[in-house]
Amino acid sequence: MRTPSLDVLSLRKVYPGGLVALDGVSFSVYRGEILGLLGPNGAGKTTTIRIITGYLSPDQGDVEVEGISVTKDPARAKARIGYMPEVLPFYPELTVREYLAFRAGIKGVPSREVKKEIDRVVSLAFIEDVAERLIAGLSKGYRQRLGFADALLGNPPVLLLDEPTIGLDPNQTVRFRQVLRELREEHTILFSSHILTEVEAVCDRVVIIDRGRIVAQGGKEDLLGEGRKVEVEIKGEEGAIRECLGSVSLDFSLEVLKDGWYRALVSGEGDIRNQIVRACCSQGLDLRKVDWERTSLERVFLSLTQEEGR
Ligand code: ATP
Repeated sequence: MRTPSLDVLSLRKVYPGGLVALDGVSFSVYRGEILGLLGPNGAGKTTTIRIITGYLSPDQGDVEVEGISVTKDPARAKARIGYMPEVLPFYPELTVREYLAFRAGIKGVPSREVKKEIDRVVSLAFIEDVAERLIAGLSKGYRQRLGFADALLGNPPVLLLDEPTIGLDPNQTVRFRQVLRELREEHTILFSSHILTEVEAVCDRVVIIDRGRIVAQGGKEDLLGEGRKVEVEIKGEEGAIRECLGSVSLDFSLEVLKDGWYRALVSGEGDIRNQIVRACCSQGLDLRKVDWERTSLERVFLSLTQEEGR
């Protein structure tokens, strides 16, 4: 049986004043996997991540990092973790390279390897162009990526990324996702976010947390369940379109768009995207989009986390 690299075991945390931030949170992350920790503001994501890093102690429960308990052997457990916090530490008077050298020292990177290691993380975080600049002058996106470079120092097997894409522009986000996919081969990655599209684009599995409890977990396909629809944009005679889609599934809706194309939402068993493409091609109908309905994960998320009084 596969052993998890990161095992979160029945965490409970009550903050002073009595707020129950976590109540029995358990999940596992395996090597080679990106797990998305998804939840609305105040759900308990940061609290979970801070407990995993050993920064906060739980009232009950434990975390094992590659089999090492964070509460019993924090130094060894922490040495296996790279943490990118939501709010980055700010050392305005240091250059990027000086800051990373300082952090490499704290993390025990041998001094003869520091330069090579900084070059490696600066390249992975694509901040080569600002390596000699003062942190004070960096934009939010660069500071964010500096935090990512910091997390990668020493090549820890487990990476914890708390809202990592929040300050990135769309180009940087795409590149960041690509780097994460490459790193996944060798690492275990926990990625927290309240942005659904981010989690959908990057993560293999999702844990949805709300008010300190896990409300759902599993592969994206599991969470999306039976009701997932395929969105199709198609052009041709309405009758021909209805006949074509009807050959794949009888359960679909059709509307005409402003530019004369039709938009259909088609339900069916399993992944019917390829069947739709084949049916449309064989009927000579034009297609410009066949994909999962964009809002599917959003709908699941809202139905699981919405409640009165928030
Ligand atoms: P966000 O997406 O807004 O960062 P989150 O899911 O990371 O939210 P947490 O920061 O873990 O949520 O907070 C969980 C709950 O605990 C919230 O209600 C928050 O207000 C509360 N909380 C967090 N830190 C403290 C603290 N130091 N003292 C008291 N309450 C706290």
